[in-house]
Amino acid sequence: MLDGLPAGHPLIPTLEMAVTLRLLMLQDHPERRPKAEDMILCLECQGQGKGCATCGDHLYVRRSEAYSFYIAAHGDVLMYGGKPGQAAKAFNVLAEGLTMMAYYPGGVTLGPLHFEVKPEWTRVVHKTEPPSKVIVNPC
Ligand SMILES: [Zn+2]
Repeated sequence: MLDGLPAGHPLIPTLEMAVTLRLLMLQDHPERRPKAEDMILCLECQGQGKGCATCGDHLYVRRSEAYSFYIAAHGDVLMYGGKPGQAAKAFNVLAEGLTMMAYYPGGVTLGPLHFEVKPEWTRVVHKTEPPSKVIVNPC
């Protein structure tokens, strides 16, 4: 996804900062950790249904599906822009999705970014040399 970005595009450093901040906040509030199996309001229709192809009018979908469908459908606004607010929403969905995936074994890598939370690690490590790495102990 990030391969087509021009050099100096602000998406990578802002994404790095946003996910890092989310992971740091979750250190103090592990009960707020986003989990893939959580059922959340459909991001596409905002729980309105009305023929929504994403949730099939069920209004709620698994968090992992909500994030992946939303980025698949709207991720292009992160690179090329869109209507006011569209890029912000897509950015936040992507950052939240990366935060969620950082808790799973092996973490998540997106372009030069890698986020991973390991329970046995006891401090925050943040390297800025590519590939960047954020390691957070959730306790
Ligand atoms: Zn829906």
